[in-house]
Amino acid sequence: MAVHISLAVELPSWVINSIDKIRRGFIWDGSEAVHGGRCSVAWKKVTRPTDLGGLGVTDLVTLGYALHMRWEWLAHSNCSHVWIDLPSQTEKIVKAMFNISVHVKVGDGSKAHKCIDCSSIEFLAPIVYNAIGKKIRKKRTVLEALQHDQWITDIQGSLLASGLQQYFHLYDKIQNIQLLSFVPDKFVWRWSNSEQYLASSAYRTFFTGLCEIPGAKQLSKAMAQQRCKFFVWLALLDRCWTSERLHRHNMRDDDVCAFCAQERESIQHLLLTCVFSRQVWSHLLSPLRLVYLMPTEESNMVDWWTTTRKLIHKDKRKGFDTLVILSWWLLWKERNSLVFNNSYKQPSSLVSYIQEEGSNCGSVLVSSPCPIFYFLVPDVHVLYIGRGRVCNFKLCILSLLLNAKRAQAR
Ligand SMILES: [Zn+2]
Repeated sequence: MAVHISLAVELPSWVINSIDKIRRGFIWDGSEAVHGGRCSVAWKKVTRPTDLGGLGVTDLVTLGYALHMRWEWLAHSNCSHVWIDLPSQTEKIVKAMFNISVHVKVGDGSKAHKCIDCSSIEFLAPIVYNAIGKKIRKKRTVLEALQHDQWITDIQGSLLASGLQQYFHLYDKIQNIQLLSFVPDKFVWRWSNSEQYLASSAYRTFFTGLCEIPGAKQLSKAMAQQRCKFFVWLALLDRCWTSERLHRHNMRDDDVCAFCAQERESIQHLLLTCVFSRQVWSHLLSPLRLVYLMPTEESNMVDWWTTTRKLIHKDKRKGFDTLVILSWWLLWKERNSLVFNNSYKQPSSLVSYIQEEGSNCGSVLVSSPCPIFYFLVPDVHVLYIGRGRVCNFKLCILSLLLNAKRAQAR
């Protein structure tokens, strides 16, 4: 409903704040409202697209801008609507974004305003442009401006040296223009292949210039349970409450690792380079004949993941991603269990638990061909035919083989 209303009018800030309050409460606490201390990531970051390090939650203010651009697009590209001449107020940011999102291929010049060779006069000759009255700038079409050099008559006041330079430059450009009779002007939307306005492309344009966060794109495409992906997202942004972070915020006296009690417990150390974690990775990767992917003591979490996944065959890459995300999540849970409940698992026991969870999560994943099976049971990959979904019959065989492997191991 908010989308339909913001399509027509600008949503008041109290409405947006109320909706955001509910969404923040749901994400961070599972309740109706949440206070600042429990919000691990700034809301502006949460509302970024997933590949830019956000959760892809819609930013309602930006969505409103993107939807309002639709009226600008219709007003410019289709003049047959009866409401075109009605007075309307458009936000400055929407107008500015629309101007850079659209270029005009001039035909007969009857619809195009302030455009020459797909470039706006506002950018080609800003001094000359500003010397023309606002009302004239708004109404004058290219066809009218070129008739009897009307555009020269429209210039008011005197132009200084720099203005004259721009005037001559513009004059040369205009001499080369030839209007095409009976060919309508065409408005082209820059951000979509169809050259037509799309609300999604307009919304995305407002995030242009933001840097991608390494690993965020792979994480958004990975097939894993949402709670595991949510944890890895926090880990990528370094927002997990490790001992090192607690110590940094004066909430803990020491910053030693809960597993090895030797080094500082950063999220990188905990999930990848700790002695305990490396043993877990060794137990996980050895049966899969992937020992060469073992993280070293200097490995960085994101670099290791994004580089090693490229060494895996494309068909098995998604399974590898699932395995990595699940292992990180269960390593974190194991650390919490050790810190808060003083319960401890041996690396081999944890690996068995990861394999068990992997086999369970495979059947839970929606529309997933259960790729993790091909990693947990290395000899089974011969059963994988093509890239299609695995039918229930194949899943039964895989489960039986998995159980047989576990029985053998015992
Ligand atoms: Zn450690």
